[in-house]
Formats: sequence, C-alpha cells, structure tokens
Amino acid sequence: MGVRSDVVVIGAGQAGLSAAYGLRRAGLAPGSGFVVLDGEDGPGGAWRHRWPTLRVDRAHRIASLPGLPFEPADRTRPAAEIVPAYFDAYERVFDLQVRRPVRVSTVRSTGPDLHVETDAGTWTTRALINATGTWTRPFRPRYPGAETFRGRQLHTVDYNGPEEFAGRRVVVVGGGSSAVQLLMEIATVAAGTTWVTRRPPEFHDEPFGEEYGRAVVARVEERVRAGLPPQSVVSVTGLALTPEVRAAQAAGVLDRLPMFERITPDGVVWADGTSVAADVILWATGWRAALGHLAPLRLRGPGGGIAVDGTRVAADPRIHLVGYGPSASTIGANRAGQAAARDVVALLREPAAA
Ligand code: FAD
Repeated sequence: MGVRSDVVVIGAGQAGLSAAYGLRRAGLAPGSGFVVLDGEDGPGGAWRHRWPTLRVDRAHRIASLPGLPFEPADRTRPAAEIVPAYFDAYERVFDLQVRRPVRVSTVRSTGPDLHVETDAGTWTTRALINATGTWTRPFRPRYPGAETFRGRQLHTVDYNGPEEFAGRRVVVVGGGSSAVQLLMEIATVAAGTTWVTRRPPEFHDEPFGEEYGRAVVARVEERVRAGLPPQSVVSVTGLALTPEVRAAQAAGVLDRLPMFERITPDGVVWADGTSVAADVILWATGWRAALGHLAPLRLRGPGGGIAVDGTRVAADPRIHLVGYGPSASTIGANRAGQAAARDVVALLREPAAA
C-alpha cells in the first residue's frame, strides 16, 4: 500500500517545482495533498550538474519560476551554483517540502491507484506529475570500433571545463548548442579540435524572435501529440550567431565535418578513407527523456513515444509529463507544471473510478 498522497510529483527541477507551486496554490497540503520526490541530494534539478563554465549570463535564458523572480546578484557565476540556490529559496518560500534523495524505481497501477515505488518506500496516489527531465539519461550513439579506441570517450554530462583537454586532440560529436559551447571552450587549450555532426548546423541571427520560438515549440508539440519520441526544444531552435560564435567561425573552430563511419584505436575514419587522429572523443549527443520508471504502465505507443495531449498522457489521464517535449525549456516547464497542476486538481474533484 504505502503512504497515501493525492498527487505525487516526481522530480524537483523547473518543471516539478512549478507543478508543486500550482498544487500548493490550489490548496493542496504537502504530505497528504501532494508530495515531491527528487533523486538529488539537494535543490537545483539538473542545474546542479551543469559544467562550471556554463554561466547564467551565457545561458539561452533562464526563466523565473512562477511567483518568485530569478534575480541573481552576479550573473557571471556558474549556473550550477546560482540556480540551485534560487530553487532552494523557492522551495522554502512556498513550503514545498521536497523529499530527497528519493529515487523512484517503478510506477505501477492497480484500479484507480498508482503505486510509486522508491528507495525510501512506496507512495500511493491518484495522480502523477512526472518531471524527471533528461539529464540522468545521456544519449550516446553507437559507432563501430568505439570499444577499440585507446583514448578517452566522454559525454557532455561528464564535462568539467576545458582544462583537462589542454594539449589533446579532441573530436567533438553533436550539432546542438552544448556541442558548440564545449567546442569553443576546448579549442582555446586543445592541440586541435574536429567538429562532426550528422546534419549541417543551422545558425540563426540573434535574438530568436517570439514567433520563431512558438513555431519550434509547435513542431515538437505535434510530434508528442502523435506519439513520436520528442526532440528537445533547445536542440531544434538552431544555433545562435553570438559574437563569440562568429569569432569561432572566423577562426575555423566551427568548420564542420559530416559524421565519420567508424572509430579506430587512434581516432576516427570516414567512408572515403580520410582519418583524424584523436586523444579524446566528446559525445555532445544529447539526452533522452528519463521515463524508465514508467515502463510497467505501458504508455509507449507504436510510434516509440508517449502520446501526450497538452501535458496529459493520452492513454492514462492520471498521468502528466512536464518538462517533456515542447515543455523542455525553463519557460515551457513553468507553463506545463502549472497546467498539469490545474488538470490534476480537476481530476481529484471527480469521484474515483473503481
Ligand atoms: P531537471 O532539471 O532535469 O529536473 C529533473 C529532476 O528529476 C532532477 O532533480 C532529477 O534528479 C529528478 N529525477 C529524475 N529521475 C528521477 C527518478 N527516477 N526518481 C526521482 N527523481 C528523479 N532551458 C532554458 O530555458 N534556458 C537555458 O539556458 C537552458 N540551458 C540548458 C543547458 C543544458 C546543458 C541543458 C541540458 C538544458 C538546458 N535547458 C535550458 C533546458 C532546461 O534546463 C530544462 O528543460 C528545464 O530546466 C526543465 O527541467 P526539468 O524540471 O524538466 O528537469
């Protein structure tokens, strides 16, 4: 059975906190009304793990959570320091009583109830707001020969700043903004860098207009409504042509090559036999939604994704996915969290089906 709570929110990143705020505002009490379970040791969601050179003034734009403005005194400090401090204050101001570290392993369904199984016991609930983000599920594509490489391979989640690449020959794989940022940093200290992406990168003049942002979100929304795996909003916005990016282009750092065919012990090789020697391969190849704990609910459809209408899972209206697909940005997570909270509160008012 386990502890009963009307709503369980899994994850205390931007999406989970904004949902918790919506539930609190609707009058639900922490504990019996709602509980937020988070796998981290402290506040901040994935921002706790962003690399030290990712600064707030260089981020795309970090939106305030609802009800408390994000106004850091020093925007040149690492996001991994400032955002967790802000989330900490947020949780205290709105008394959200996040339970951590609590790692959810599995969610099961019996009749009208959902059972949320964790390393700290089981919660039983009528509604679930899932806000588990992507950081815990880095994606690394398979290429032949990867296991033979004598150098180091790492993913963006393992990146800790450029210093450790001093004097190394580094291949950076991936066409997103993380790849570009890391590449620009590493190029200042490395013996050489090579950038490879599957598709030619698309650069856009800054700033991204609102209309463009809406069009991107609509594209991702269409995919998740159709039950296809989402693309990240941040990844489909394209790359901003900042002064820094223009300088890197002029210096040849962003001269891009198509994907190589295979990996050798000493580097990477293309189909035409061209090769590049490397000491390091950095996979800046993104993330997938961290939804493994929902597997027993069998929500995935034939398209490989979970069909979602707004934030509500089409196959099971008790479950909402926030920070997923079109809401995988700080501003999107804000809206999605609150929309899910409203919907769940309405659901709780309905008599429970047997
Ligand atoms: P997260 O912040 O990842 O929070 C999810 C939480 O759930 C974590 O605390 C995690 O530990 C927890 N969790 C996961 N699985 C479990 C489990 N099984 N049990 C318990 N807890 C669990 N967006 C912007 O708008 N502006 C930016 O500048 C920007 N920069 C970005 C830079 C990078 C490198 C990346 C990867 C993303 C960036 N984004 C940015 C996207 C943005 O960070 C997220 O979309 C947004 O913060 C929403 O976060 P979230 O709450 O969905 O997830």
